[in-house]
Amino acid sequence: MTSPFVPFNRPSLSGREFDYLQMAIDGGHISASGPFSQRAAELLQAHLQTDTVLLTTSCTDALEMTALLLQITPGDTVILPSFTFVSTAIAFARVGARLRFVDIDRQTLGLDPKAVQEAIDETVRAVVTVHYAGVPSSIEELAEICEASGATLIEDNAHGLFAASRGRLLGTFGAMSTLSFHETKNFSCGEGGALLINDDDLSDRAQVLYHKGTNRRAFELGQVDKYTWCDIGSSFGMSDLLAAYLLAQLEQRDQILECRRLATQRYDDLLRGQLEDFGVEFAAPPLDATPAFHMYYVLLPTKRCRDAVLGSMNADGVHATFHYIPLHNAPGSAPYRDGDGDLPVTEDVAGRILRLPFFTSIDEATHQRVATSLIDAVAKHS
Ligand SMILES: *Cc1c(COP(=O)(O)O)cnc(C)c1O
Repeated sequence: MTSPFVPFNRPSLSGREFDYLQMAIDGGHISASGPFSQRAAELLQAHLQTDTVLLTTSCTDALEMTALLLQITPGDTVILPSFTFVSTAIAFARVGARLRFVDIDRQTLGLDPKAVQEAIDETVRAVVTVHYAGVPSSIEELAEICEASGATLIEDNAHGLFAASRGRLLGTFGAMSTLSFHETKNFSCGEGGALLINDDDLSDRAQVLYHKGTNRRAFELGQVDKYTWCDIGSSFGMSDLLAAYLLAQLEQRDQILECRRLATQRYDDLLRGQLEDFGVEFAAPPLDATPAFHMYYVLLPTKRCRDAVLGSMNADGVHATFHYIPLHNAPGSAPYRDGDGDLPVTEDVAGRILRLPFFTSIDEATHQRVATSLIDAVAKHS
C-alpha cells in the first residue's frame, strides 16, 4: 500500500466560516465595505492600534497602494530584499522605481540592517521589509535607519500577522504595512489582503485611492453632500463574502497560532535530533521575538543535497518545496534593478532551503510521514 500524498498546504477551517457566509448573503451586502469588512477591519485595528485598516483583494494590491500613496515615480529608488515573493517588487516596478536589492541576515532571513545602512542614500524613498516566516526582520534597527535618512519604512507583513518583536506587534513599526490572506497564509479567505496605515497624513488619500479615486468615504461620513472623482485609484476593496470568511478565521487567532506553534514544536521534536548530525540547520528566531509560525523550513548542507532531497520527497508523495528564487537575477527584474552586486547570503539560503508541508490542521500522522520521508532522503543523499 502506498502512503497518502501529503500536500504542501491545505486550507484549514476554523469553525464559523459557513455561518458567516450565510449571514453575509442573507444580509444582502456582498460587495466591498460591508458589515463583515467593517468587523474584520475593526478587529485588526483594535489589536494593532493602527489609524486605518483597508481590506484589499490581495497583499499585492495593498503593496501597490503603498507605492501610489508615496507617489513614487521613475528616478526614485526602493530598497527591498531579493529573498521575497515577487509582489514585493512588482508593486514598485510598475510605478517605475529603481529596485535596490539588499542582502538578508542569516538568522532572521529578513533584510540585514548593516547592508541597508550601506545601501541607503538620498534617492531612496522607501525601504520595504519582509518578516520572513513570521519572524521579525531586525525591525527596530530598520526603523532607526529610515528615520535618520528620511526614507519611509513599509512592512510587507504577509507572514507575520500577530507576531511581535520585543512585545510590539509587527505591522506597527512602518508608516504602512500590508497583510496577505491568500490560501497559503496563516489566516485566509482564499485571496485577500489588507493595508494598515500608521501615519495619519496618508489616511485621507488612502481612502480616496481605495474608493476608485472618489471621495466616497467623505460622503459616507457626511462630510460632503455628493461624491465625485478626485484622484487616481482602483477597485481595491475585498468582497464582503470573503471578509465574512476571513472574520471567522481572525476571531480564532489564538487557536490558529497555538496549532501552528505546536506543529512547529512537533517537527522540531521529530527532526532535530535525527538531522543535526548530517549538518542540517534549523530556524533559530531571536529570543526577543514572538513569531507567527508561518512556515517550517530547514537548510540542507548544499544545494545539490537540497535538490536531491526535494526530488526524493516529491517522488515519495510528500510535497516539500523550495522558496524563493531570488529576484535580483530573475529576468523580470532586469529593467528595474539598481546596481549589480552579489547577494551571497540570499543566494546561499535560496539554494539550500527546504520547506516542509505545513498548515494549521496538520496532524501527527502527517508529521510522522513527512519526517520519515525527510530523514530517509537526507540519509540517502548525504
Ligand atoms: C504571499 C505574499 C505576498 C502576496 O500576497 P497576495 O495576497 O497573494 O497578493 C506578498 N509578499 C509576501 C512576502 C508573500 O509571502
